[in-house]
Amino acid sequence: MSTNETPTHTTSTAQNASNEEANGQCLCGAVSFTCSSPSPGVGACHCSTCQGWGGGPLLAVDCGSDIAFQGAGHISIYASSQWAERAFCQVCGSHLFYRLKHDGKHIVPVGLFRDGPAFHLDHQIFIDEKPDYFSFANVTHNMTGAEVFAQVQSEQP
Ligand SMILES: [Zn+2]
Ligand SMILES: [Zn+2]
Repeated sequence: MSTNETPTHTTSTAQNASNEEANGQCLCGAVSFTCSSPSPGVGACHCSTCQGWGGGPLLAVDCGSDIAFQGAGHISIYASSQWAERAFCQVCGSHLFYRLKHDGKHIVPVGLFRDGPAFHLDHQIFIDEKPDYFSFANVTHNMTGAEVFAQVQSEQP
């Protein structure tokens, strides 16, 4: 089991949700979804688990727990850690979401959306695990893995 994966893959919270319904789908269309209020802020996660999953950073948005899927029979779930799971389309392999087990929060790859708010990259996490062969030019709020874990700890009651 990886120790690098974090319970929260974004610093975005419901407070900056867009309240703008958005729709998306996988590459082949077997799975589609509607999210009631995705965050317009896109997060990049550079953790080693995300790198292994997608071959690079995960660029995704916080959809909260209010997301509905069609074609759910085509979704496979992989338990990537004790606290979270990752899903993909059985037909085309598109990554569909990272989901926290305890609250059902879905972090959805931004590239799946067909509409929605004006997304913009505004934060990067596990910046200390980012490979040296690229850097995003966007001005973002960056956090190391340790800082992410510290924030998660501080948010717990
Ligand atoms: Zn598909
Ligand atoms: Zn990650």
